[in-house]
Amino acid sequence: MDLYFLLTAILVFVFGTAIGSFLNVAVWRLPRKEQITHGRSHCPNCGHELRSKDLIPLVSYVLAKGKCTYCQKPISPQYFIVEFITGTLFFTSYLLYLPQDFLHWILLLQGWFVLSVLVVVFVIDLKHYLILDKVIFPMTILLLIFQATIGWYIYNAVLSDLVISSFIGAIAGFVPFYLLWKLSGGKWMGLGDAKFGLFIGAALGWPAIYLAYMLSFFVGTAVALPLLLTGKKELSGKLPFGTFLAIATIIVLWAGDWFMRLYWEWLGFGVYS
Ligand SMILES: [Zn+2]
Repeated sequence: MDLYFLLTAILVFVFGTAIGSFLNVAVWRLPRKEQITHGRSHCPNCGHELRSKDLIPLVSYVLAKGKCTYCQKPISPQYFIVEFITGTLFFTSYLLYLPQDFLHWILLLQGWFVLSVLVVVFVIDLKHYLILDKVIFPMTILLLIFQATIGWYIYNAVLSDLVISSFIGAIAGFVPFYLLWKLSGGKWMGLGDAKFGLFIGAALGWPAIYLAYMLSFFVGTAVALPLLLTGKKELSGKLPFGTFLAIATIIVLWAGDWFMRLYWEWLGFGVYS
């Protein structure tokens, strides 16, 4: 790999950790009804305002040994983990795309946007069992506008195949989970999961959204089974299904084509093209 890609990849990782730092603020403030842009960050324990040197992604956490520099109280490793994972997600998608022109950089940017929303939904669902309307609805609309703009740039048409696939994907992502929620009176599926289906449907398009659905059940089973067997969860216990959906979506974003090919050949349709 040449030097240009190596340096860009490192910059992308650093950029990702900075975005991760912002996402940490979002997952803290959004469920608490605080404004994301309101005021500077402060320590949740002593309330001391954080300075620039306390806000360097990854580095500040390591230098302060995971404690607040002002009150010495341990800071949740979540801050470090979210920064690191966001950096890694950005870095990996850069390596998978290796954009060489303007259009591919824009597509990568859209990929980063989707990944950032997935991180936010994942963490909030994991911690609060919540999927927030104020995250899903604006982000789905923003994504559709994004797709429309890219479609206009490539095909000179706002209603390109790209937008139509996203739009159908969003509906296809919403309806089955909504029906499951409705039929089970909220027992099998939360309404939040159906709303999340809107966003990932718009992100993956049709028919990739159903691949994400299938995978999310596999991921869910792989996580839930050990928890059930070791008695850490009961069968009636709540599971943050949105986290499984988020993981499945990343798998489809990165390896969807490979899965489709496998499935196609398994069905006996010959070589997928
Ligand atoms: Zn403190």
